[in-house]
Amino acid sequence: MIEIRHLTKKYGSHVAVDNLDLTVEKGKIYGFLGPNGAGKSTTMNMITGYLAPTEGEVIIDGHDILKEPEEAKKRIGYLPEIPPVYPDMTVKEYLTFVAELKGIKKAERKEAIANAMELVKITDMEKRLIKNLSKGYKQRVGLAQALLAMPDVIILDEPTVGLDPKQIIEIRDLIKGLGKKHTVILSSHILSEISAVCDYIFVISKGKLVASDSTENLEKQFAGSNQLEVTVKGEEKEVVSLIKTVQGVNGVTVTERRKDGTCALRISVKKKMDIREELFYALANAKMPIFEMNSNSTSLEEIFLTLTGQQQTETEKMKLQKNIEAMDEKTEVEQEVAEEGSVKENESNL
Ligand code: ADP
Ligand code: MG
Repeated sequence: MIEIRHLTKKYGSHVAVDNLDLTVEKGKIYGFLGPNGAGKSTTMNMITGYLAPTEGEVIIDGHDILKEPEEAKKRIGYLPEIPPVYPDMTVKEYLTFVAELKGIKKAERKEAIANAMELVKITDMEKRLIKNLSKGYKQRVGLAQALLAMPDVIILDEPTVGLDPKQIIEIRDLIKGLGKKHTVILSSHILSEISAVCDYIFVISKGKLVASDSTENLEKQFAGSNQLEVTVKGEEKEVVSLIKTVQGVNGVTVTERRKDGTCALRISVKKKMDIREELFYALANAKMPIFEMNSNSTSLEEIFLTLTGQQQTETEKMKLQKNIEAMDEKTEVEQEVAEEGSVKENESNL
């Protein structure tokens, strides 16, 4: 769907985007993840034809964005970092204006606008002046603008910046919904933001692509032994000994006992193993229902910091991997000790 080759942007002697090569396939949600100043917006501005690259090319569905801008741009909807909305227009006036700009035929305009407003749930705001809308709603108007011509690709630059948690969840859901029919690329400097919605992540640091993989693989690839946090209802000792029988479990720690008969546990799992299904059935068969289960994703956070921080060379990545493994081994020992401690504590309680 999108091919990016040797894409480079220099501002004077400063290289903002440095020889990016990447491919975006149809029908997935992609994330550009990187700290502020990494080059995300510059890249998006080049993909959408707002900015000419110093070197390299962007091909959208076979059309070069510079050589055939009309054909290429037709396929893209873009929500830039600062939504290009006009505060003194009403929502409907503004969307009509954009529809004209995008060359949507007059006969189709009304329906296109109604559809876009419906998609981002702003239909009841159509007569409001944009300047009187909340930040979240302004963002939705920007999104509606990007969706107007029903493009194949939707590109969103930091779509959740400055929104409150409720608005963030709403926009996230919206993006996930869009991902069902469109190819979506969004950027963020926040890892959790990207991993919550994206199928595939491009990690960008100092203008360079430092990692590119599916969200799942990135987690697996770099995670040492992973951890699961579970809340289970049942007698603590029985729960612990049962969990230990599940293949792949390295250790179990009780982190909290609650009055309602549930306990929270941290399970250390062998590298690259996913025990969730087996764990579920083991506990279900023993009539110990799981109330909550979460994979601990701190390691992904670490990967991100490492990839975008100072340690960027292969050797340093290897070093990090070793460190994580070493840390995990240490934690496992600590966990075993902690576990013994908790049993003793338990006994003294009896
Ligand atoms: P991001 O979106 O990841 O935060 P940007 O693409 O906005 O990063 O910026 C990448 C780098 O390019 C930064 O170092 C920024 O200061 C620089 N930069 C961006 N736009 C310009 C510009 N118009 N002139 C000079 N430098 C710029
Ligand atoms: Mg930016």
